[in-house]
Amino acid sequence: MLEPERRRVVDRAPALAGLTPGRTGNLSVRSDDRFAVTPTGVPYDGFDTADVPVVRIEDGEHVAGGMAPSSEVPMHAAIYRREDVDAIVHTHSPWATTMAVRQEELPPIHYMIVAVGKRVPVAEYAPYGTDELAANVVEAMTEADSTACFIENHGLVVTAPDLDTAIEDTIHVESLSRIYLQSLAAGGEPTTLSDDQLETVLERFESYGQ
Ligand code: 13P
Ligand code: ZN
Repeated sequence: MLEPERRRVVDRAPALAGLTPGRTGNLSVRSDDRFAVTPTGVPYDGFDTADVPVVRIEDGEHVAGGMAPSSEVPMHAAIYRREDVDAIVHTHSPWATTMAVRQEELPPIHYMIVAVGKRVPVAEYAPYGTDELAANVVEAMTEADSTACFIENHGLVVTAPDLDTAIEDTIHVESLSRIYLQSLAAGGEPTTLSDDQLETVLERFESYGQ
């Protein structure tokens, strides 16, 4: 069941090792009404495709895979129920988590923010792995029309149409958080782009790349 998605989880999970300490963080890939997700509390090179848990979106039930799924299944399932996305990455990456500790949203200080929206909002704190946290994350992303959000005193969540994009966008938010915090440390208020300037970037992105 979900063999290609489970393979992608195994192949890309090591990318988390450079972004989030130890066994923290998790990622998932959706197919139809299920998703493959990293197992809970296992190092990112410590499992194979047969171990990768498959979870039903409707009720968060573990339906296949040898290992127990991430404790954040309620959050992944709630996002898949609400958003038209096929991959989710959650990290405790240090610069994004500094934003989460400051309980401060990331404003449009740089044009690359459009990778995830016009700002990165903050979801209210609730204990990890709870339905309450899942609801807070969905609410923050929906309200801000952003594919990323910080979680107060916890970390970052990013959604995307595929896992490679979700990982790349996680790195963008991490980098932008660092630039914002460095700019604050340099003194004064960081400058921001206007809504018109962001709209122009979105138009140009339609023809960006090969
Ligand atoms: P899991 O190992 O259960 O995925 O938990 C890590 C985490 O970051 C919880 O928020
Ligand atoms: Zn976490």
